[in-house]
Amino acid sequence: MRIYELSKQYNKPIKEILEILEKIGIKGKKSLSSLKDEELKKVEEVFKKEELKKVEEKPVEEKKKIIFKGNETVKEIAEKIQIPPNEILKYLLNLKIVVNVNQKLEKSVIEKICEKFNILPVFEEEKIILPEKKKEEPEPIFVKRAPVVTIMGHVDHGKTTILDKIRKSRIAEKEVGQITQKIGAYKVNLPEGSIVFLDTPGHEAFTAMRAMGAKVTDIVVLVVAADEGVKPQTIEALNHAKSANVPIIVAINKIDKPNINPEIIKQQLSEHGLIPEEWGGDTVYVKVSGLTGEGINELLEMILLVGEMLELKAQINCKGEGTVIESSLDRFRGPVISVIVEKGKLKVGDPFIAGTTWGKIRAMFDDWGNRLEEADPSTPVEILGAHDIVVPGSKFKVVDSDKEAKEFAERIEEERKKTVIPVKRLSLKDLYEEIKKGEVKELNIILKTDFYNSIDAIKNVISKIPQNEIKINILHAGTGPISESDVLLASASNGIILGFKVPVDPKAKEIAKKENVEIRTYEIIYDIGDELVKAIEGMLEPEIKEELQGQALVKKVFKLSKNLVVAGCLVVDGKVIKNSKVKIVRNGKIIFEGVLSSLKRFKESVNEVSYNNECGIGIDNFYDFQEGDIIQCYALVEVPRKLKGV
Ligand code: GDP
Repeated sequence: MRIYELSKQYNKPIKEILEILEKIGIKGKKSLSSLKDEELKKVEEVFKKEELKKVEEKPVEEKKKIIFKGNETVKEIAEKIQIPPNEILKYLLNLKIVVNVNQKLEKSVIEKICEKFNILPVFEEEKIILPEKKKEEPEPIFVKRAPVVTIMGHVDHGKTTILDKIRKSRIAEKEVGQITQKIGAYKVNLPEGSIVFLDTPGHEAFTAMRAMGAKVTDIVVLVVAADEGVKPQTIEALNHAKSANVPIIVAINKIDKPNINPEIIKQQLSEHGLIPEEWGGDTVYVKVSGLTGEGINELLEMILLVGEMLELKAQINCKGEGTVIESSLDRFRGPVISVIVEKGKLKVGDPFIAGTTWGKIRAMFDDWGNRLEEADPSTPVEILGAHDIVVPGSKFKVVDSDKEAKEFAERIEEERKKTVIPVKRLSLKDLYEEIKKGEVKELNIILKTDFYNSIDAIKNVISKIPQNEIKINILHAGTGPISESDVLLASASNGIILGFKVPVDPKAKEIAKKENVEIRTYEIIYDIGDELVKAIEGMLEPEIKEELQGQALVKKVFKLSKNLVVAGCLVVDGKVIKNSKVKIVRNGKIIFEGVLSSLKRFKESVNEVSYNNECGIGIDNFYDFQEGDIIQCYALVEVPRKLKGV
């Protein structure tokens, strides 16, 4: 009998069975391995003993209820739950949340702390609105729920094709001609169980949700094309999944192509910790073709198997809850919200709050466009009846009445406006203080460089920093401009971004500002090491920061003489300023840095030219302009640094 089958028969998690096997000396088994008769007998004996023990064990202690306002400081929480503040700080640090004892915390963080220390938090506002409700809370009943899967991988490796193939293959289950609706996720029903696929492939959406505190995905499928092998974005996706602590299944795609070697992919990914089962690791690899459909069924089976091992359960006898995965404004139907149900049942007519908005479920549809009256956990549904659209990643909660929903929404808005301080992100400047306070023991770094070779060189420099104050983790290292996805990863993991000879995408810059994520760019490798040392020692010099003032696109190049070349440009962002520092970006790479020495508008020398105007630009010692180059213009600003005690 296979371990998987045994797990089903005895309703025991595979993980537990593997542990028992190890304990009784049957080593090296995996979830798909078979057991011999005598091995089976031994395991069954252990099961019997465990059953006996369980009967003797006492029932679990009930959680202590404590009332919170929902914006307490760490100190106040410590007093209420009778746990030393340091313990709480330590726990938060594990969650990569850096706060001090006097900082007010958001409700979601208080909930996490209570969960950790076995407390049942009751928030005042809930109490005011639902005074008598809490008394007759029923015993929670849990049901098995389907795993929610995100497909990630390098561009063009076949994520969309695989998603579409799975989506189409299920059309056979339904009436001919029925079309699936794109609602952000869809459910596949197999004889052995169901799987929910999130429809947005790629890791940006995944990490953006995570940065909002939402954990929707249970399993990541990492797609790697067999003909191209592991690519930068494969590693990027892998690191995003790893930092979220989600199990990864590797789908080696395009196996219909000739001359491919899937073994190389296993080898390359093993170097990143994804060791195949057959080599003694625990990563499942499946060979598939999104084009022909080969291996897709096996992939689905493996997802179910891994899902089984995760023992995914949801409470069913409680008010409905879920996470918003998509939201848009429909011209005819008004705000539309797609939600994955996580707890309880959603029912038409339920009043709800979602992020900062509220409403009443007017109508609900599944991913086939069928009207639903009810929706169970792990079901993706489209909901009509909200007053406004909602940011994906927001919580969706059913409440008791319209009045309560409205009041909740108003209160959330008010709370947002007043005291609650957003969770502070780590910066190099403050690193020393945080280390001294014992609030930081790890520094998460996202590293972006111009060439691959630079990554190793920088990793080497960082590994040689003579210090033992903190553990430096390079969460992700890759080449190319600093992107939105890098910032999201840094934000979700409270890390900082170090760039070496790479530009920062404008969108990334904008999000970094909003999310409070530090981006530092360098031109000399050793500066990175030096700055990290200084940051750790608290000796960081006042920082000279480059501030992007504007960007101009080269439209035409005028070679006036050998040493006099002028670029005819259009200012596409901000303004360009004479004598300022400039960087020339070609195909996403900085190819030259210098000074903007001549700036003309209609033959006249000017000091600056603003957005949407044309101009002629000359740069000292640079004669190799090409059409399509971007000239970025920077101001150097000094950021003063507070003196720190030693
Ligand atoms: P994505 O960017 O990862 O979503 O990749 P797509 O799904 O858009 O696929 C990129 C290209 O690869 C398309 O031209 C697909 O037709 C092709 N493709 C995807 N899967 C397979 C496959 O299994 N075999 C072959 N031969 N081509 C595939």
